[in-house]
Amino acid sequence: MTVTGALNSTTGTLYVVATPIGNLDDMSARALKVLADVALIAAEDTRHSIRLLQHFGIETPLAACHEHNEREEGSRFITRLLAGDSVALISDAGTPLISDPGYHLVRQARAAGVPVVPVPGACALIAALSAAGLPSDRFIFEGFLPAKTAGRKARLEQVREEPRTLIFYEAPHRILECLQDMEQVFGPERPALLARELTKTFETLKGLPMAELRAFVEGDSNQQRGECVVLVAGWTAPESDEAVSTEVLRILDLLLKEMPLKRAAALAAEITGVRKNLLYQVALEKQKV
Ligand code: SAM
Repeated sequence: MTVTGALNSTTGTLYVVATPIGNLDDMSARALKVLADVALIAAEDTRHSIRLLQHFGIETPLAACHEHNEREEGSRFITRLLAGDSVALISDAGTPLISDPGYHLVRQARAAGVPVVPVPGACALIAALSAAGLPSDRFIFEGFLPAKTAGRKARLEQVREEPRTLIFYEAPHRILECLQDMEQVFGPERPALLARELTKTFETLKGLPMAELRAFVEGDSNQQRGECVVLVAGWTAPESDEAVSTEVLRILDLLLKEMPLKRAAALAAEITGVRKNLLYQVALEKQKV
């Protein structure tokens, strides 16, 4: 396999290379080959990455590409790429750009017509989701929540009724406060899972209703250490809420103004998909008021 340059082109390729999130055995053979073959490795923290590269006997030169210099220094990498050198982008752990630097460099490269090739591998959110047993067909990744309670709760409120599985990254020194806020916003019964120290010696995946998960972490200071991902089941409307959602009520109200109760309930059921009998009961209640 040749990794430098695209076919029929003198332009180099920007490889976006995932590295392990703990267990070095998760480094892929392809990632190792790319890192050894490129002219330059753009790394979030060169001191951190040098250890990884030394472990695998890779001697490719490193250059810093972190959130503070990425926009300004991106052009340096683009110049190298346009001159024909291939560059690999790595972050401290996992997949670059996923709560890590790289977005601006990738944008600049694509804008300059440089081929950008992903070399996939470890990613904490995907590893956690793959073993969580929560619905995985649709999910949203919220990254890191704001550090202060007010901001965090405001953000959580925005996704309180999100039906897809929610995934958050959190720092260990904030995990307890974060779970406390989640319990308040999502309620004590919402299924949740803490995925801690994935792929490492003290890997823990604990799935519990939100209040029990908060209590579990509160009662064991070891659970407040290490790296963690929090997953929360999406919102499901309680049966009794089916009839009283604001939108359904609005439709029912409009129809009740125009036609008899029974017909309004039937038509509202057809429009909204809510059971006709429930809407009939709600309409009856409304008439009593
Ligand atoms: N780019 C990385 C990825 O692909 O997952 C994420 C980098 S972000 C700066 C670091 C956060 O990812 C941590 O605070 C934690 O929330 C999560 N994380 C990284 N490694 C992890 C691990 N081994 N176990 C659990 N969470 C991890």
